[in-house]
Amino acid sequence: MNVKLKKPAETGLKSDKVWCHHELRFYLWDNLDPIDVFNLSDYDAVIISSQNVDLIKEKVKRFRSWSSSEIHLKPLFIIGSGSLINDPMVKGLVDGSLVSESHIDGIADVVRRIHSRKMKLDARLPSTFEGQLVNKLLGFAYTRSLEEINPVLNKESITGYVYPMLSINFLREEEGTQYQILNLMEEEGLLDGSFQDRVYICPSCSSGFLNYREVCSKCSSTHLHADDVVHHFPCAYIGPMKDFDSDGSGDLQCPKCDKLLHHIGVDYDKPSVVHTCQSCGQIQQNTPVHASCYSCETTVPTEQLQPTEIKSYTITKKGLHVAMNGYSNSEIDTDVVHGAVDLTTFSTILNMEVERASLLGSAKSCLGIINLHNVNQVYNQLGENGAYKLMTELVELVKSSAGRADMICFERAENLLLLQNEISLQEALNTLRSLKLLFNRLFEDRFPNGGVEIDTRSQLLTGGKNAQWHLNELHNAN
Ligand SMILES: [Zn+2]
Ligand SMILES: [Zn+2]
Ligand SMILES: [Zn+2]
Repeated sequence: MNVKLKKPAETGLKSDKVWCHHELRFYLWDNLDPIDVFNLSDYDAVIISSQNVDLIKEKVKRFRSWSSSEIHLKPLFIIGSGSLINDPMVKGLVDGSLVSESHIDGIADVVRRIHSRKMKLDARLPSTFEGQLVNKLLGFAYTRSLEEINPVLNKESITGYVYPMLSINFLREEEGTQYQILNLMEEEGLLDGSFQDRVYICPSCSSGFLNYREVCSKCSSTHLHADDVVHHFPCAYIGPMKDFDSDGSGDLQCPKCDKLLHHIGVDYDKPSVVHTCQSCGQIQQNTPVHASCYSCETTVPTEQLQPTEIKSYTITKKGLHVAMNGYSNSEIDTDVVHGAVDLTTFSTILNMEVERASLLGSAKSCLGIINLHNVNQVYNQLGENGAYKLMTELVELVKSSAGRADMICFERAENLLLLQNEISLQEALNTLRSLKLLFNRLFEDRFPNGGVEIDTRSQLLTGGKNAQWHLNELHNAN
């Protein structure tokens, strides 16, 4: 066992909370510790220490539902009894457990593997919620070397099934949306689904917690009395059982021919059941079945319930590609927009600028971003050619505006990158502010229902860091 305990460097945190093992730093997060997850992003892994499954679940959920990959992909472990990870949600979201500190060697390799895989992922945060979920699900599966994304039966889930890393992002009552995301990913060829089960869910709230019962076809009352229908062969009389047992003795006598009934199948039969409504008196043979939702109290005929297929998913090659290169629900090739450079060229020049900044000792260049939230709807509306025209126009607007940009690039259809040399951060921010106004005016005039929202950020280049680091910083800054 190779455990070296060191004093934690440069943190004000108490040393018994930080375990150092070779190059790795583990944070031990116990019940009473009020620290929140965003303060733990610098640790290589977090070990949750608690005997209370609900508290463990809360902490795990806090990590995994966070938007930044620094947090939601953090290696997480439980220390203590192995039974603590029997909860289906916890099990699907942690990376393992350990009995005591002396077993830390066993999890160190898991942490290293997750980190080395994480390095290959695209760290940009997609602008849409769906895009973020897609990235998160694929990124988690990739870093954990999961070949499949499987549904887990869970009685706490509103639909009865969860996909832990996906379901975690929804409030219980919104959980039905997870199926839409999975369908979208399957349609786009990122996942390959295979049938596991089918659930019927409430059409108004997606709950699978339903009460099924027969109702009166006339007044919808559930207060029905069921009775066998008896067919007396000798006289061909057909009527409800109570007609044959009028004295309640249990001996059956035909009300039409007065003969006693002997053997079922020989002299009589029970061909069906008849229901008598105790509320309106209606007698009926075919009673409809209605389902009443325990969550929202809606009652609907069972034909109106929403059948939902529960599938297991494998990640396709395209899915892996998206995990590593980012997800964009737009087909637009951003490398060919007139007036802008492609991302590879932009990154090369950005790297050269960073080197120049390092040599000069003080940074004089700024990297900025203009995010165009919801712009894909506008692009779809315009069609491919119209979208390129609009993007070219946006580039022109940047070039001809009061501010300057030495290099412009559509990193993806939803955001523009600007490299501005020989400029202070304040000047760069001013430029972005006026561009935001111009962009807003353009979208409000031409696409008033487009719902496009603009936000901008900028940062000074930091010497010694590469283009990818700068882009990650820019994306994680919100
Ligand atoms: Zn009735
Ligand atoms: Zn009879
Ligand atoms: Zn409901």
